[in-house]
Amino acid sequence: MNTIRTASLVLKTCNMNDNDKLITFFSPEYGRLTAIAKGVRSHKHKDFAALQPFCFSDVTFTSKQGGLYTVSFAQVTNNFFDLRNDVIKVSFATYYMDIVADIAQEIVGDEDYFKFVLNTLYLTEKAERNAEDGDILPFLKKLKAIFEIKTVCVMGVMPELGRCVSCGKDKKLDYFSHYEGGVACSDCIGRYDGREHLPVSITEMDIKIIDYIVKSDYRSVFSFSIAEELLNRICAIVERYLVAQTDTFYKSLGFLHKIIAGNYQNDSEN
Ligand SMILES: [Zn+2]
Repeated sequence: MNTIRTASLVLKTCNMNDNDKLITFFSPEYGRLTAIAKGVRSHKHKDFAALQPFCFSDVTFTSKQGGLYTVSFAQVTNNFFDLRNDVIKVSFATYYMDIVADIAQEIVGDEDYFKFVLNTLYLTEKAERNAEDGDILPFLKKLKAIFEIKTVCVMGVMPELGRCVSCGKDKKLDYFSHYEGGVACSDCIGRYDGREHLPVSITEMDIKIIDYIVKSDYRSVFSFSIAEELLNRICAIVERYLVAQTDTFYKSLGFLHKIIAGNYQNDSEN
């Protein structure tokens, strides 16, 4: 019998049958952990509260002879209560959990990134503290851009922002190529004619902001202010970059687009 106990974030849960769930966790020590939680579909189960999505919990896992882990104990450290009761916040957080679930296997022993993910959830939960005129959306969009940039960096695909990815020159860097992972210059843009994925326009200010996020440490990265128009441009560039680099357009991202556009209620009515 192999037993491990580790602080874990519940990324996803999936019902296996009437009683049990298959749960995907992110742990700073082990990266991604997948485990069966028996009986936890019942509200009366002792571990029910600790095994909900977005819960940061102290979890003990056991496995027999290298088989799939089973959760034997779980206790909540933080359940991000004010996040889970708000459909806008939940939509952002679900997208983050989907990305982390896909990459966590490769992120073993990175305590700093783990804390950054928790901090992103915490700031999402408490978004009202940073809202302007009661509107939490601009702050949540800023958090999303930061999360996406820091996550592509942790995946090892940090964007090239100082030199053209095609010719290496450092002048007229007016485009960004999502698939090549960096800026491209005006002289090279003709080389992309006829290609499926064309670079998009980028300004010097966009590059500066993205570079600031790339280079800032996890603690100070959140503390910049940005005009909404600039933020929207940055959001579009970094989201496409993450989608290109993960080669995945998450269903949760599609839903998040509807939330940001403010039309999710229309969907639920139809
Ligand atoms: Zn070039």
